[in-house]
Amino acid sequence: MALLPILTAPDPRLKKKSKPIETVDAEIVRLMDDMLETMYAAPGIGLAAPQVGVLKRVIVLDIEREDVKTGPLFMANPEIIEASDEDVTYEEGCLSVPEHYSDVARPAHVRVRYLDREGKAQELACDGLLATCVQHEIDHLDGVLFIDHISSLKRNMILRKLLKARKDAEREAEDDKPALPKSRAKAAAEAM
Ligand SMILES: [Zn+2]
Repeated sequence: MALLPILTAPDPRLKKKSKPIETVDAEIVRLMDDMLETMYAAPGIGLAAPQVGVLKRVIVLDIEREDVKTGPLFMANPEIIEASDEDVTYEEGCLSVPEHYSDVARPAHVRVRYLDREGKAQELACDGLLATCVQHEIDHLDGVLFIDHISSLKRNMILRKLLKARKDAEREAEDDKPALPKSRAKAAAEAM
């Protein structure tokens, strides 16, 4: 298994639509395993293939909360086949939008259909944080970030800060100065 570099916004690859996979072959299984390891290391509770620059419809999740304990979930071609009218609001974070969090409202309960790591068709009823996370990851496959669900004013402010942080990091690397210690992201475990 290998750790993969995680892309951060604004990167044009995060805005692309990912392609469905034909079969869960050895290459896809390797991608799933590498993504899971990358997600745990980040740390995060979900990761979508485009976040590591692979435009394929593959996501991984692992949520461990008092109310939901999923263990590792691998999903190829995930699709929401039912969604509740009732919404729930969570403060979301994203490994591709580091250190920014925002409230996003989404359907509280969804049913997702997908192919698992063995290539078997599965359906899963999701609620709570799992419902939010699975919708957040499927959004990534369609080039949508959680900041696309908030006001353009707030989104542009976040994107400007991310761009500035990236330029500062590049400048520091050029100057060969020791990098500043990274500030701990608030509620980092919720990044997905
Ligand atoms: Zn994300």
